[in-house]
Amino acid sequence: MDLRKVTADDVRSAVARFMERSGLDRFSIRAALIDMDGVLYDSMKYHTLAWQHMMRDVGVECTRDEFYLYEGMTGIATINLLFRRAFGRDADPDEGKRLYAVKTRYFHEFGDREPMPGADRMLRALIRGGIKRVLVTGSAQASLLESLESDYPGAFTEQRRVTALDVKHGKPSPEPYLMGLKKAGEEAANSIVIENAPLGVKAGHAAGCFTIAVTTGPIPADEMWKAGADLVLPSMPEFADLLPAILEMYPVN
Ligand code: MG
Repeated sequence: MDLRKVTADDVRSAVARFMERSGLDRFSIRAALIDMDGVLYDSMKYHTLAWQHMMRDVGVECTRDEFYLYEGMTGIATINLLFRRAFGRDADPDEGKRLYAVKTRYFHEFGDREPMPGADRMLRALIRGGIKRVLVTGSAQASLLESLESDYPGAFTEQRRVTALDVKHGKPSPEPYLMGLKKAGEEAANSIVIENAPLGVKAGHAAGCFTIAVTTGPIPADEMWKAGADLVLPSMPEFADLLPAILEMYPVN
């Protein structure tokens, strides 16, 4: 794992590789498609615990860490994955809904809403730079979605949000990010994705976007590179430090 500081030169090389891969002769940043859990909120530690408790209630032991690998999938997709493994079948739809509600209840019990350090600075840099922001989350967690405006005023309009309720296929499918591009009215060649989970990185990469991974949990940088990240940052504060320089290098034109 590469632990040295990410510099403007690293960004330049990463963008050059991205442009070559995508066959682009220009790249500018007009839109940022931003994941929620593990990027805007330091919520994954509570999600993983809530998942583990809910599955234990139905008699299935899971490690807490495995849920970091499922991050980005919709709740129902995660339940079906675990059901297939444990019982050889999908959950029936009502059972799935009920279990997701149980998971949500645990999530609230364990304490949920901690804005991620650095996220506010990142969003303010994007707003200052005139970059469109679109929320692209696999979550349907009302407690966080309803708090976005008070925690990050003006960052995301209601029209520029893609949640679990909007898509047929969650991450790692490109569908959520393709829908995000549509909501921004931009092409992949003018957009960046900001993610913390390997499945989310895969989704951003598959949508053709320059995908920035930030390691805010226990998953190492290597997994982000393997998932197709164009750039990997070790923390949100470090990403927020670097972002103004990135925006200056690839201005809206
Ligand atoms: Mg996430």
